[in-house]
Amino acid sequence: MKVFKFGGASVKDADGVRNLASIIQEYPDQLVIVVSAMGKTTNSLEVLAKNYFNENREELLVNINTLKQFHSAIIENLFNDFSEEVKLTLSSDFEQLNIRLAHPPSLDYDFEYDQIVSLGEILSTKITSAYLNYVGIKNRWIDIRTGLRTDATWREGNIDWSLSSGLIHSKFNFNENRIYVTQGFIGATVTDQTTTLGREGSDYTAAVLANMLDSDSVTIWKDVQGIMNADPHKFNVTQKLDMLSYREAVEMTYYGAKVIHPKTMKPLVEKDIPLYVRSFIQPLENGSVICRIDHVMNYVPVFISKEDLILITISPLDFSFIAEESISKIYKLFAHYRIKVNLVQQSAMNFSVAIDHPERGFDHLISDLKNKFVVHYNEGLELLTIRYYTEEVIHQMIEKRTVLVAQRTRTTARFLMKQV
Ligand code: ASP
Ligand code: MG
Repeated sequence: MKVFKFGGASVKDADGVRNLASIIQEYPDQLVIVVSAMGKTTNSLEVLAKNYFNENREELLVNINTLKQFHSAIIENLFNDFSEEVKLTLSSDFEQLNIRLAHPPSLDYDFEYDQIVSLGEILSTKITSAYLNYVGIKNRWIDIRTGLRTDATWREGNIDWSLSSGLIHSKFNFNENRIYVTQGFIGATVTDQTTTLGREGSDYTAAVLANMLDSDSVTIWKDVQGIMNADPHKFNVTQKLDMLSYREAVEMTYYGAKVIHPKTMKPLVEKDIPLYVRSFIQPLENGSVICRIDHVMNYVPVFISKEDLILITISPLDFSFIAEESISKIYKLFAHYRIKVNLVQQSAMNFSVAIDHPERGFDHLISDLKNKFVVHYNEGLELLTIRYYTEEVIHQMIEKRTVLVAQRTRTTARFLMKQV
């Protein structure tokens, strides 16, 4: 069997769903189809969750209406006379949302977030599954929350592998159905509270299911030709990487390449499952494959740019050195605020780290740090990572830029610069 993952961009409108169906039609295989929320629905649901949590009733009502309208319009476009029946299958989900939103929020924003934001995937998969059945591609819809069980780390649920794997095997029975449609990005605790697995987590779901079900491969259908050596939105000249190793893919996502969710590779490596990245716009083209490669590859230079970083420089209050003990205190704070460190530079009296701009809690972090250290920071920075660099390439990229930190290893050069 194979796992296919379709992201939000691939099902952003009715044509997207029709296109998905035409791709599926070409495959006689047993399939698990993992679908994300339609278009930018997750972003809209995040806004909705915030308005609920902050009790902005008026805006909340607008948000709910927009969400309903958006999905209704897609349904009407896809199903004609059959639309009302499909809408009925979503009515209990909207009902549940209304009931939740009618109650005052609990004190835990992250919990509320998961309960609300998860709806996007429920709606998209119900619509997709119904449409496939409607056009004769028989399939079964699965609520993945009954199979993928996580701990209660809201917004970043950790999968309970042994429990989930048994449940998943019992849910996906290919003697009964050839095609299954299910949600990416979401799971549930053992007490049936919904969790999410982190933004863009549907890739990870696809990999987890592939691992548990011993899939032949995973294919991620995207709006790009495959994995490129640079983001085509940011760089003029880009090249497709036809084949890369799991390790290379992990490195690229670690440095901030957005092509695949960073957690995706581990479940695949474990069982040697190849990951294809292909275009849903040109589904006959080859795309890229990430797989096990034992020989040394010659890669072209790969550019990864990450924006909106903050460089924090921390020094002791007295004239002492930055030592292991203070560094461990600093890292504990980062872990507490769930802050991702991208780059570290250490000298006798300074410890500098480039971090992602956190959504919340930055001011608290800084004041916590200021209790123990002298703290300076610069916002609005870009971190450019160049894998397989040449001197010429580096020169071209940083020539006219203000570089705050530069680091090089044999294969990788990194520059923290003022954003332009
Ligand atoms: N819908 C979720 C998101 O936008 C998950 C995903 O797309 O992978 O983050
Ligand atoms: Mg997505």
